[in-house]
Amino acid sequence: MTAEPAHLASPWQAIDHAHLWHPYTSLPAAVAPLPVVGAEGCELILADGRRLIDAMASWWSAIHGYNQPALNDAAQAQLARMSHVMFGGLTHPAAAGLAERLLRIVPAGLESIFLADSGSVAVEVAIKAAMQYWQAAGQPQRRRLLAFRHGYHGDTCWAMSVSDPANGMHRLYADMLPQQRFAPAPQCPPDAPFEPAALEPVAALIEQEADELAGVIIEPLVQGAGGMRFYHPAFLAGLRRLCDAHGLLLICDEIATGFGRTGTLFACEQAGITPDILCLGKALTGGYLTLAATLTTRAVSARLNGGEAGVLMHGPTFMANPLACTIASASIDLLLAGDWQARVRRLETGLRAGLAPAAALPSVREVRVFGAIGVIEMQAPVDMARATAIATAAGVWLRPFGRLIYTMPPYPLTPVQTERVCEAMCAIASGTGG
Ligand code: PMP
Repeated sequence: MTAEPAHLASPWQAIDHAHLWHPYTSLPAAVAPLPVVGAEGCELILADGRRLIDAMASWWSAIHGYNQPALNDAAQAQLARMSHVMFGGLTHPAAAGLAERLLRIVPAGLESIFLADSGSVAVEVAIKAAMQYWQAAGQPQRRRLLAFRHGYHGDTCWAMSVSDPANGMHRLYADMLPQQRFAPAPQCPPDAPFEPAALEPVAALIEQEADELAGVIIEPLVQGAGGMRFYHPAFLAGLRRLCDAHGLLLICDEIATGFGRTGTLFACEQAGITPDILCLGKALTGGYLTLAATLTTRAVSARLNGGEAGVLMHGPTFMANPLACTIASASIDLLLAGDWQARVRRLETGLRAGLAPAAALPSVREVRVFGAIGVIEMQAPVDMARATAIATAAGVWLRPFGRLIYTMPPYPLTPVQTERVCEAMCAIASGTGG
């Protein structure tokens, strides 16, 4: 008989192993997930008492770190009032309070808000709104979207259809999804002078396809899960001008970049633009609960009212969940009350210094840092099990994918913790440690 693997040691882990799917895994999972029993500040607490510095901020959402008293108090106060009521025919101060805060901080002109239940759903809602917009405008043939290679917008159908068709996890469904148009990924790093030629491929595609296009969807300044690539704000500003020139809707997906990650509250601000439709999620609740938002200009929402349906055709059970809305409001208040800009700058400086040694390694293709995002791009795919072993031995939680070892940590990460994260990333890149 073989000894029981460590991850089956406790009864709950055995249940997890036998019955629970994890993201993008087989069942049972090939590599056992780490058992987490608590989280505090910027650390995860494992079942055996070990603490890991969380360099992932729970897939980029836990911007304040964990167990924040202000968010806990807000959640508890709302629980005592009500956790949830339907939003059809009913409303509550939690949703209005969040709307009021969002209106104060998002790019000017976005005034109509749909509170959805996850990032992918916010993208579905954005695309449905764009489709309905053109139906209402009497141009139903405008039903394709222009998206970008290396983009990622979520795992639901329309969201998959606008995510990179080749590099992503969605290739399996390629010929079952709505067929969209793809422009090359922006090739204009934010730290080099902008060459207007970078816009030529997308300009040519828009020119060719304008009559069939409903709009363009893009992640502002940072292409996240599709490759952790950064691009110049002038590209986004140019794209806004191209959309205006051809009457296309610009959909900005700030699900990953919203709430300070790139050094401004929203990455759009660095390009000085307002999209027609904006998607937010992830850090909206400080990583506490699932909630997302799709915001549109009045021009978009008013047009939908005039369409065949006269309504925005979406309405999930947990729309505008009061508990999530209350926590989101508390998270925005906490962010704005603190010195988030200095924290993001400090992280950027720390990541630049800490990751620089990796640039000299022959196994490394590129090291790049933008705001509170640090990336080591390898020449070859990273061995995830080995990478996890190296990182956890160094007391750090990292989750590389493909050729990318990256961090998007909570903003309060201290300089010492930042150094440890960078050391762990460099150790994975050099294949040492573990
Ligand atoms: N858009 C972007 C830019 C994202 O990074 C993600 C999630 N990584 C999504 C959409 C999908 O969000 P969710 O996982 O909450 O559905």
